[in-house]
Formats: sequence, structure tokens, C-alpha cells
Amino acid sequence: MTKYVLVADLRRCVGCQTCTAACKNSNATAPGIQWRKVLDVETGTYPDVRRSFLPVGCMHCDDPPCMTVCPSTATKKRDDGIVIIDYDLCIGCAYCAVACPYQARFKVKDRLSAYGEAAGEMSHEAARFDQALIGVAQKCTFCADRIDEGLALGLVPGKDWQATPACVNSCISSALQFGDLDDKDSAVSRLLAENQSSRMHEELGTGPNIYYIWDDAP
Ligand code: SF4
Ligand code: SF4
Repeated sequence: MTKYVLVADLRRCVGCQTCTAACKNSNATAPGIQWRKVLDVETGTYPDVRRSFLPVGCMHCDDPPCMTVCPSTATKKRDDGIVIIDYDLCIGCAYCAVACPYQARFKVKDRLSAYGEAAGEMSHEAARFDQALIGVAQKCTFCADRIDEGLALGLVPGKDWQATPACVNSCISSALQFGDLDDKDSAVSRLLAENQSSRMHEELGTGPNIYYIWDDAP
């Protein structure tokens, strides 16, 4: 089997948000919508504080509440673990956005551009706007289209950049890694075997598939 996961090494992330920008460029998401977001978190008590950056987005959960509540069966989980939305089936009720504990889902009502109507659309907005995403639920797809196109060419997601999510390709510090957790030789499997990691809100039983590597040492 194949099980795609994302690993974020919090020791390496510098919070530059290049991943966010790469995602926006690659998917032409609307103003204010970030499928890949980076949270800025401060922990500890002054003066013993620490600042960390936490890339977040759809966790492609093993047991996704967004799928359970979907009344139109638009949300599906692929055999490789990627949670997708069939935009033709989605009725835009947004139950899934309410059910998602990670606030990973969005709904856009109108075609908008980053700098407004007067300035016109940016080139990536014009090139990659998809009418199918208007009025329905949308979220990170792990760049499923890139993965599928890459696989058809015999490429390996997480290893060959053409088959790897845009956020991972863009990360300036290699904090993001993507790949098949069922492949013991993949970078994600090796990283998780060699480091301590955690997942967000594991207590909810959703089985999130973004793993965070961290180091508690000061
Ligand atoms: S993170 Fe939210 S949108 Fe993504 S699979 Fe889990 S419940 Fe669904
Ligand atoms: S591009 Fe890499 S270093 Fe920059 S915010 Fe994203 S994960 Fe962190």
C-alpha cells in the first residue's frame, strides 16, 4: 500500500512562509485563503520564551470528520490516503468546514484577485483559476494532480520534485518532507524513525497525517 504523509521539521522551519506563497501560486487560491499556512507560536513564560513556526493545513486524516458529515459523498479518501473533494458532487453546505478540527477547509463565493478588480488578475491567477472551486468546499489536496501526473511518468512523490507538493519543493530550509510512510526507505519514514514526533490533536482520533518533528532542548 501507499500512505502519503507530510513531515514538518520544526527545528528547521524559520517561518518565512515561502510554502504558503508557493501553494497560493500553484493553486491560485483566492485572497485570504491559505491551504498551507504557517502559525507563529510563542511558548514559555517571559523571559524564558521560545518562538516556533508550525506549518498547518489539511491533515489528510485517516478518519476524517469532514468526510463523515458530508451529505453528498463529495469528500473521499483515496487509497493512498489523500482526502479529496469531488467539486461536481459538493453542494457547498460547508458542514465539512464546521466538522474539521483543523480549520483546513474554505469556501469561496466569487472570483477575486489579490489586488482587486482595477489592478486585474496576477498571471498565476489568470492562468490557474478554476471555476469548479467557486461555491464549494476547498482545501489542500497534497497537490494530488502533480502526484498523479508524476506517477504516470514513473516519478516518485517526495523524491522527484515534479511529483511532489509545491510547498515541499519551495521550502528554503527543507523543513517540509513528503512521501510514502509505507515505504521504509522514504525520507519521511527515515525521519520519523530517527526523531521524536507528534501530530496535532491526536486525542481526537482523526489520525492526522502531518507529523511534526521537534526538539524540546532549550
Ligand atoms: S484536516 Fe480537516 S479537511 Fe483535512 S481530512 Fe482532516 S477533517 Fe478533513
Ligand atoms: S518554507 Fe519552509 S522554512 Fe519557510 S515557513 Fe514554510 S516550512 Fe517554514
